[in-house]
Amino acid sequence: MDPRIRLMQGDITRLAVDAIVNAANESLLGGGGVDGAIHRAAGPELLVECCRLGGCPTGQARLTQGYRLPARFVVHTVGPVWHGGGRGEAELLASCYRNSLALAAQAGAKSLAFPAISCGVYGYPVEEACRVAVTTLAEELPLWPEMEVVYLVAFDKRVLDAYHRCLGSVA
Ligand code: ADP
Repeated sequence: MDPRIRLMQGDITRLAVDAIVNAANESLLGGGGVDGAIHRAAGPELLVECCRLGGCPTGQARLTQGYRLPARFVVHTVGPVWHGGGRGEAELLASCYRNSLALAAQAGAKSLAFPAISCGVYGYPVEEACRVAVTTLAEELPLWPEMEVVYLVAFDKRVLDAYHRCLGSVA
């Protein structure tokens, strides 16, 4: 396993990394969960910049400033809604990780933190989502040698435990 991938439990809005990823929706106009927390912590300027972006399709990513967050950038990505696994959910989720990592690295970020994309209201099974996150980052990180650390941030213990099991089995 790439030693640059680290697990942690906590609130992603508090992290002093170069970029954090937001699990946004296609409108990019804010929502609940981690999206709401990021907008509250960043302040209203974030919504102003997001409004100018005109949305984002599922699986893709868009970059903004971090405003009042400790992080300099926010990468907004739109995870798939879980419909049972037959609508390309795994490939779309992998695209979120791949595109977010690429966008952050191209912006010069050397540290990046991901929430568990799609694991909240979008209903993706947590174990499977964790496996997609870990395997995709392990595949993609060799393309970005200047990225120093990528945190997988679990807000709750259920997700943290799933990541631990996953890292143990992939390592
Ligand atoms: P989605 O719509 O992609 O499912 P959610 O925001 O509902 O997004 O949930 C994604 C994950 O983010 C969930 O595991 C949720 O517990 C977690 N989460 C919620 N708030 C925070 C936060 N402040 N920091 C990190 N993770 C968070």
